Amino acid sequence: MFQRPAAPDIQTDYLIIGAGVAGITLAQKLKEKGLEVWLLGSPYESQIAKAGALQNVSSIAEGTNGLDHIEEMIAKAKEVGVKHKTSLCTSIETNDEIAVITKHQKFLAKKVVIATGAKQPRLDFEGETNFYHKGISDCAVCDWGLYRGKDIAVIGSHEYTRRAAEFMKQHANKVYLMWLSEHLDFSLDNILTFTNVREIVAMGSDVLENVSFESEQGSQKIQISGLFVEGKPKPSTKFLQDSKIKLNESGYIIVDSKFRTSIQNIWAIGDVTGLTDSYDTAIDHSIQLAKELLI
Ligand SMILES: Cc1cc2nc3c(=O)[nH]c(=O)nc-3n(C[C@H](O)[C@H](O)[C@H](O)COP(=O)(O)OP(=O)(O)OC[C@H]3O[C@@H](n4cnc5c(N)ncnc54)[C@H](O)[C@@H]3O)c2cc1C
Repeated sequence: MFQRPAAPDIQTDYLIIGAGVAGITLAQKLKEKGLEVWLLGSPYESQIAKAGALQNVSSIAEGTNGLDHIEEMIAKAKEVGVKHKTSLCTSIETNDEIAVITKHQKFLAKKVVIATGAKQPRLDFEGETNFYHKGISDCAVCDWGLYRGKDIAVIGSHEYTRRAAEFMKQHANKVYLMWLSEHLDFSLDNILTFTNVREIVAMGSDVLENVSFESEQGSQKIQISGLFVEGKPKPSTKFLQDSKIKLNESGYIIVDSKFRTSIQNIWAIGDVTGLTDSYDTAIDHSIQLAKELLI
């Protein structure tokens, strides 16, 4: 089989892993001060790209589309000279030097900042993997067009679950809310809601057709074309599992008050630290770390 040859190693002063709002903002700030900066990761995989209309962001207009905004951010960062690749980092080696490994390349960096954020985890119910992208999606604002006028359900138990259900109400025929926990402190008009949802099974021939589950309201089987998994994002730190960088019990990177990780010359900012969960707070990390690094 044809093997793509490995690209030559890249040496850089700063390497930022993660092209969400935290990583892009920091990359731009460092580059504007004349430093050499590489940025890794896909802005389209960032949370803001999947957020839809943004709420409670101090620096941009309420309702700004997250995808448009992150596209503008990455364009500006590249304009000032940030070098960018969408490659995913698969591991970090910290022996004599810091080596950040991607599928086809190695980056040797003097200083590394991890800003890999968080993403929607799989819920691990029966049929979830089989019907992923065949009716099951983790991004309502990306995939709503495929389910226009159809019956769909949204599953999770987070503020983002509620928002996704309300968003889909504007586009789908019928919307079910499958709330995973017992407690629900809001009600949504025209959305049939089930609580304490468990024992979920997704079924269909080629694509998703039905979902059965147990709930507070009894055993259910609903006919749906789309099921949106929209819960609390989990930290993207799997690639660090063999590294010496310390994580807490939930998988977030442990940092001190100056964003330093347990390894010298490696910092972490944004949602991957578990200390932020919004646009403003993630950007605030970038601003604070830029000040530290530019002293
Ligand atoms: C549905 C939804 C709606 C939201 N709505 C709002 C809102 O209205 N207002 C608000 O303030 N906040 C909102 N948020 C939260 C906000 O989007 C996040 O807190 C913020 O964007 C976090 O930014 P980040 O840069 O830390 O991480 P992320 O946005 O998670 O970005 C991480 C980046 O790292 C990349 N990455 C991950 N692993 C690797 C790897 N191994 N190698 C290379 N790159 C990697 C990802 O592809 C991505 O580019 C919302 C989030 C979601 C999910």
